[in-house]
Amino acid sequence: MSSIFSKILNGDIPSYTIAEDDRYFAFLDINPLAKGHTLVIPKKEVDYIFDVEDELLADMMVFSKKIARAIEKVVSCKRIGVAVLGLEVPHAHIHLIPINSEADINFSKPKLKLSREEFEELAKKIRKELK
Ligand code: AMP
Repeated sequence: MSSIFSKILNGDIPSYTIAEDDRYFAFLDINPLAKGHTLVIPKKEVDYIFDVEDELLADMMVFSKKIARAIEKVVSCKRIGVAVLGLEVPHAHIHLIPINSEADINFSKPKLKLSREEFEELAKKIRKELK
């Protein structure tokens, strides 16, 4: 079993990396709802988020908090919205999405088209805020 996200972890597929530690990895969503839309995943591949073991699941939110704080400093927004769907990729992930209103977190909306340079610039700025 190797999800597309495990392929990213293995370096088989590129991503715009935001942060990682021994248990988690954060990277920009390639079809973002907003600039700075980030995904946080456990390195251990588990499909459904509520099958992730307690400690790993709880600490995933603490890891996400650090990332959210950094995104907030780069992207102007009221809040970082948090969403879990998991309908597309069978590797548990938390969406962190800069929002100003409820409508900003509607996954049925057309996604932003950003250039590679824009993704790289965003990732660089967010990484800088994590230091
Ligand atoms: P869902 O499983 O419903 O939460 O949706 C999966 C999310 O992963 C979507 O927002 C996709 O845009 C995102 N996604 C899929 N493939 C990649 C990838 N290679 N790099 C970054 N994000 C991805």
